[in-house]
Amino acid sequence: MEEKITLNLFYMGLISAILAVLCSGIAFYRSYQEQVQEDLSRHGQLVAEAYTSLTEPSQLSRFSRQGIRITLIQTDGTVLYESAADAGTMENHLSRPEVQSALSGGSGSAKRTSETLGSVDYYYALRLPDGNVLRVSQAVSNIYQIYGDAVPYLVLAICILMIMAVVFAVLLTRRLLVPIKRLPDELDDPTLADDRSRVYPELRPFVQEIQKQRQERDSMRQEFTANVSHELKTPLTTISGYAEMIESGMAREEDVKRFASTIHRESGRLLTLISDIIRLSQLDENDAPAPMLPVDLRNLATECMDSLVPAAKKNGISFSIEGPECTVHGDKGELWELIYNLIDNAIRYNRPNGSISITLTERSICVSDTGIGIPPEHQERIFERFYRVDKSHSRSTGGTGLGLSIVKHVAEHHGARLQLESTLGVGTSITVTFPS
Ligand code: ADP
Repeated sequence: MEEKITLNLFYMGLISAILAVLCSGIAFYRSYQEQVQEDLSRHGQLVAEAYTSLTEPSQLSRFSRQGIRITLIQTDGTVLYESAADAGTMENHLSRPEVQSALSGGSGSAKRTSETLGSVDYYYALRLPDGNVLRVSQAVSNIYQIYGDAVPYLVLAICILMIMAVVFAVLLTRRLLVPIKRLPDELDDPTLADDRSRVYPELRPFVQEIQKQRQERDSMRQEFTANVSHELKTPLTTISGYAEMIESGMAREEDVKRFASTIHRESGRLLTLISDIIRLSQLDENDAPAPMLPVDLRNLATECMDSLVPAAKKNGISFSIEGPECTVHGDKGELWELIYNLIDNAIRYNRPNGSISITLTERSICVSDTGIGIPPEHQERIFERFYRVDKSHSRSTGGTGLGLSIVKHVAEHHGARLQLESTLGVGTSITVTFPS
């Protein structure tokens, strides 16, 4: 951004400098032309005044200053005198516009470009008391010739302006960007967005949005940490309590086996919990879009189903899978987790001898069960971390409260939409629709 602003400022400076040079040049040339015309008419009038005291036309040569030509023309256009040439060889001048104007109106001026010399001739003619016409003229270099002489100075001026434009552009950009570069260090300050000396008003909504997101993220993190500690403590307290009883010999011989199996179950839960927590934080860290590899969801669903068959058999739950092949682009590992968690829930929250049907379309997968269903007031929240409708049911079936959070995360990662339909006591279906 810095480079872009500097470059734009530099171009702006340079273009304005060049335009200023060009415009002032044109303005200068115009006023120079006007000055020439004015000088010429004044000189013509002076010569005309002196003319009355002259005895013959050749005496007019006294008034032809350097660069100024004097011509005396008779009423029929014959040239009587010409300071720069032999009057005898000159053509009739009656058709010249300045002469015409002088004859009819007393005076006239004209301007003609000399094609061979490239210069511009200025003429001023006036009628004398004896009826003849006196004409004075001057050749002026054209704008390019005048500029030609000034080219070295102009180049020098433009070079200096260019250097100044670079310096100003760099300094100005730095100054403009100082508040923006300081923003990351100051974002923690809640008064930042209202301080006009530190934040450009145009950036206020942006700063407020980032601060809001940060606050939300911080409070979510705090809540998650508190939940994690609580969730880890529960099985550990059980494990530690039972182990202590065995250790101190308080447990009766016949209870030891039961205690050991509780310790085993709770430590298993602890392991699942820890691996779910690690998985979630991995997903949190890796927020980049999922790698785009084609994955066949039908195959993946069959694999997940196969690994969950033993759990399903325990409760007499049957599976069915329907629909065409469904190939989406994404991360196979993550998609496996998504489908596994959905089927795992469909088993754990099913009724004995219930069923699960997996339906695929070209862009979606839907896992439906004939289980306990989710009360409407809980439906919005079950995708939150550690949110469970019935804690003890979730625990007793080995749930961690994190399965659907992982599902939600993976879906978001793939740009997929989640849709939940559930009726209490009838069943639940969760559909994941992928972008086309
Ligand atoms: P858990 O490990 O507790 O299953 P999840 O995040 O997977 O955690 O699910 C959150 C809660 O949503 C569960 O505790 C359960 O109350 C409810 N739930 C999830 N799937 C189903 C389902 N198929 N049928 C009924 N309730 C479900």
